Amino acid sequence: CGVFGVFGVKDAASLTYYGLHALQHRGQEGAGIVTVDRDATFRRIKGGGLVTEVFGEGNLSTLKGDMAIGHVRYTTAGGGGIENVQPFLFRHNTGDFALAHNGNIVNSALLRIYLENKGSLFQSTSDSEILAHLIKKETKYHDRPRIYSIIDALNMIEGAFAFLIMTANRIYACRDKYGLRPLSIGRLGDGYVVSSETCAFDVLGAEFVRDVEPGEIVTIDSEGIRSRDFSQYKRCEMCSMEYIYFARPDSDIEGCNVHAYRKESGRLLFGEAPAEADIVVGVPDSSLSAAMGYAEASGLPYEMGLIKNKYIGRTFIQPSQELREKGVRMKLSAVRTIVKGKRVVLVDDSIVRGTTSRRIVTMLKEAGATEVHVRIASPPMTHPCFYGVDTSTRDELISARKEVDGVREEICADSLAFLSPGALLRAGNRKDLCMACFTGHYPTALYQSVDEVNKD
Ligand code: SF4
Repeated sequence: CGVFGVFGVKDAASLTYYGLHALQHRGQEGAGIVTVDRDATFRRIKGGGLVTEVFGEGNLSTLKGDMAIGHVRYTTAGGGGIENVQPFLFRHNTGDFALAHNGNIVNSALLRIYLENKGSLFQSTSDSEILAHLIKKETKYHDRPRIYSIIDALNMIEGAFAFLIMTANRIYACRDKYGLRPLSIGRLGDGYVVSSETCAFDVLGAEFVRDVEPGEIVTIDSEGIRSRDFSQYKRCEMCSMEYIYFARPDSDIEGCNVHAYRKESGRLLFGEAPAEADIVVGVPDSSLSAAMGYAEASGLPYEMGLIKNKYIGRTFIQPSQELREKGVRMKLSAVRTIVKGKRVVLVDDSIVRGTTSRRIVTMLKEAGATEVHVRIASPPMTHPCFYGVDTSTRDELISARKEVDGVREEICADSLAFLSPGALLRAGNRKDLCMACFTGHYPTALYQSVDEVNKD
């Protein structure tokens, strides 16, 4: 998912629309914006689909105010459905507030049962709503500023999160203590913007100020920005998949440009796994930077051997296996005149189930490639993600079931190699990253699912 917020800038809804549009790659299943105007009236529009499908000039102009938060949804926890599209809006006798979340709360099943037993009524099945109920519960019991309720609530949840909470006069931007999800603050005119990725700042002409730190709450209001730590336990374990696959190449995450990171990972991949070949081809779009790095380091020409059709809709219906195969062909085509008679190094960002890799290798061979050497700019994915990235269950992950040579055979490649976890860190000059889907070392404790809790 992606979150975006605006404080203190005229027509905040339109700016949020452009911000969310720049974050569209982080979620295409739903979008929403909540604004608040000077007389503390909250207004919300949300719906299923792309930002451009949910919003138009007509409905955007009804969202009045110079404060707004917005969200683009990518379904993992809680499933689809309009009730799960954010931001959530909560009425409360101490003041209304809106909330948008990117990430996944791993102790949500236990907290939901605890809150329901205390009388909370949930609007959705999304785990993101849990924070709001914790804040409300904490506010109810104590006559004190809301920031303390937020601090207490944040300390009860475990997992990955970047939260934006908007009250009638301020926005709170919070990031989990492991720093798993990105969140950055920018300056726009006399106001501020907050975004999951910095690419949205460039679209608006905003100036990057700083990242929200792990375990930090940044308060943005008419007095400017103030910082508080909600936790003393702080780690810097940014999700490595943000760099590998998820984020846009023009974003900077914790000071490192995503394109530069991917390109360096490609260079390191060549160092670890060179191949005898004629050309280097990347799988569009997220693997192109790594392919460039591999080509540069190897001295082989970087070629556009695969073309992506950008106009395949999200709602494209693929009912049968046969049609699904055609769907991939419509999405991606091999450029026959480039690959014919060539030994190709195919650079991809990751292998999940292996089915897409097999189709691409086969497609290149059918177009006349004599050999296809697959190089993956990340380690074998052997474990599921519990932090909001849909990397499938363990049984579906091909590298959890097979050694590298077994995977190579299944995807019909002439050779196959993966980047090492050490190189993944070196590519971004980092000491730490979350690499749990490659190593199984999860930074947080893991909790039971609702089904498991109900069984006990
Ligand atoms: Fe990212 Fe993998 Fe960690 Fe999930 S487990 S947060 S996808 S690195």
